[in-house]
Amino acid sequence: MPQGADVMDLRYNVIQWVHRATRGWSYGAAVTDPRTGEIIKGHVTLGSLRVRQDFLIAEALLAPYEKGKPVSPKMQEMALARLRQLAAHEVGHTLGLMHNYSASTVNRSSVMDYPPPYVKLVADGTPDLSAAYATGIGEWDKVSIVFGYQDFAPGTNEQAALNTMLLDAYGRGLRYLTDQDARPAGSSSSLAHLWDSGANAVDELNRIMQVRGAALKRFGENNIREGAPLATLEDVLVPLYMLHRYQVEAASKLVGGMDYTFALRGDGQTPTHIVAPAEQRRALAAVLTTLKPDVLALPESLLKLIPPRPPDYERGREHFKIHTSPAFDALAPAEAAAQHTLQFLFNPERAARLVEFHARNAENLGLEEILDAVLAATWKSAHGKGYTAEIARIIDRVALYDLMALSANEHASDQVRAIAALKLEDLRGWITTTEGSVISFVDEEQRAHFSFATSQIVQFQKDPKQISVTAPAEPPDGPPIGADDDWDGWD
Ligand SMILES: [Zn+2]
Repeated sequence: MPQGADVMDLRYNVIQWVHRATRGWSYGAAVTDPRTGEIIKGHVTLGSLRVRQDFLIAEALLAPYEKGKPVSPKMQEMALARLRQLAAHEVGHTLGLMHNYSASTVNRSSVMDYPPPYVKLVADGTPDLSAAYATGIGEWDKVSIVFGYQDFAPGTNEQAALNTMLLDAYGRGLRYLTDQDARPAGSSSSLAHLWDSGANAVDELNRIMQVRGAALKRFGENNIREGAPLATLEDVLVPLYMLHRYQVEAASKLVGGMDYTFALRGDGQTPTHIVAPAEQRRALAAVLTTLKPDVLALPESLLKLIPPRPPDYERGREHFKIHTSPAFDALAPAEAAAQHTLQFLFNPERAARLVEFHARNAENLGLEEILDAVLAATWKSAHGKGYTAEIARIIDRVALYDLMALSANEHASDQVRAIAALKLEDLRGWITTTEGSVISFVDEEQRAHFSFATSQIVQFQKDPKQISVTAPAEPPDGPPIGADDDWDGWD
């Protein structure tokens, strides 16, 4: 800044770094001329605490604090790479650019997307963060700037030239989908997501589950510094345990999914395309794998390591919500992860699309198929014994809660509620018959689980306003990771 200049001075475009009490959003604000909408001043605010979240993810993945070994600079390198990407993103806003949440599915073609750190697994199963973030602005950003700021030679048909520019870009596979297309939980496009990676959301979910599994296997004392309270292992565990949270949301959008473009009459773009049934089923299978008890179980060796939190290390928004205080709750992470996944499969807009698309073409998946698949993967699956059986029962209850909530959801369409109510009654019938069978006799926990569920369903059917099943705990806060903003007052 020139000597004596003020950051609020209209003549200067400013990037300001601020310290905050907690992690929050960064902003790329602009001062505009109210008469013309012209941007007069760019004002970016970057929060310092955000780096902490990125650093935590790197610590969780790399387990970098091996006794007697120098601490790797990779965590800081990743956090700085993210800050560079962030600064470009915010400056993009001050130049008038909106988010493009489809860019991650096209070679990270825009800094105006929300990128997660891209993590690869090397041959020995260790995570590699070397390509965590893209560098430089993306192909779509170049199209956007040229579209918005290009001057044309006199006599040029500017409108035609601008149209050609965009159609060329679409012809090269670039796409533009923004907040309205990606943020709502009921979004239908399989190509617009926050914090996702990769051209295909399903393949990427399967890949991320591998990365998560490999890093969890290595997770332990080396994930925190010498002298740090062992209870803070949970702080580092949370972003890793929930590493799949954004990609599972992305993959679930293919279920009852419909891709679309903002096609203009005569521009040759395909306005709508219902996601192919086979691809929807692949997505459903991938999403349901995130509910497997052994995927959500934590190693006993780790559980033994985490004591109650010491004074001044209170449990907060970045920790699991537990039932076992003061002890760390070995079941709470599974409950949070199951609720996170199932909320997307029980989303009322998605459910209504499934009903409609199936009615229009019986080859398209229907809501019945989804609910049957969820119950088959939960209540009707073998539960086994011990810790993973207890996790399975928790996931059952989350599915039951969400099924009840959908059938009682006044924002859901009647047919959606009708089908959910039918599946609930089917489940009650199945539990009653199974209850009568051998299974429940040998296993008292299972018998308690079944009879409690039966009484809750009967009570709910009498008065749907009374869901007595405990509402599943929400996972610890996720976004923002590593930076980003809440531009233009999007929720
Ligand atoms: Zn933004």
